[in-house]
Amino acid sequence: TTMLEVSDLGHTYGSGDTAYTAISDLSFTVETGELTCIVGPSGCGKSTLLRAIAGLHTPTGGTVRLKGETVAGVPEDLAVVFQDYSRSLFPWLTVRDNVEFPLRSRGVSADDRASRAAEALEWVGLGKAGKKYPWQLSGGMQQRVSIARALACRPSLLLMDEPFASVDAQTRFELEDLLLRVRRELNATVLLVTHDIDESVYLGDRVLVLSKPPATVVAELPVDLPPV
Ligand code: ADP
Ligand code: ADP
Repeated sequence: TTMLEVSDLGHTYGSGDTAYTAISDLSFTVETGELTCIVGPSGCGKSTLLRAIAGLHTPTGGTVRLKGETVAGVPEDLAVVFQDYSRSLFPWLTVRDNVEFPLRSRGVSADDRASRAAEALEWVGLGKAGKKYPWQLSGGMQQRVSIARALACRPSLLLMDEPFASVDAQTRFELEDLLLRVRRELNATVLLVTHDIDESVYLGDRVLVLSKPPATVVAELPVDLPPV
């Protein structure tokens, strides 16, 4: 079944002389259980696209449908992992409380919050770190906490915006393999945006390549080559 349907999406910032079209006529779908990567040069409109999918801004053209429903406002069914883990975790909350935090606003009971946070921290290899504070952890571990927090929400769709761009290469490989393992175990549907073509091919079941602005899909991998 189709999880996400982006149709003729466009986004223009500003108006008149200063209008800037970041994306234009962008259409694609993401099937349930698929890990789709979107790759394109820096500044091509990837974050603009993700913000529209996450309901953080209204696109100036086209539609985004999540499980058939037009996205308007932030869907509870969706979780986002951002590049900047250092600003996305609350420093005054323990790791466990950070992971539980979005479950509070979703009305999950205290017992369920605790068990779901513990489970999610196990998934990312931080089963013993629940009582620590984010600043006591390395950058890679903080990003693991962000991933655990997203997974604890059991989102229908996990959005990831350059999630491994701010960690060192060794940590990036570890986190990439963690993502591949966890999404298999959970059969998660993931949309990951990156400027790194290597990373997109390594991770994605499918890769959509965006053009320079105004961004639109210019190619899709794997390519079905004609038989030789
Ligand atoms: P990417 O995530 O691919 O690096 P962005 O979606 O952040 O690209 O930005 C695409 C283009 O839109 C960039 O040229 C950027 O300068 C411009 N842009 C992004 N946000 C705004 C904004 N709030 N107002 C005006 N222009 C913006
Ligand atoms: P080999 O050099 O034997 O082919 P790999 O290329 O599989 O070994 O590299 C080993 C590890 O490096 C992989 O498990 C993976 O974590 C990481 N890795 C390899 N290629 C990439 C890539 N393009 N992007 C991210 N990580 C990669």
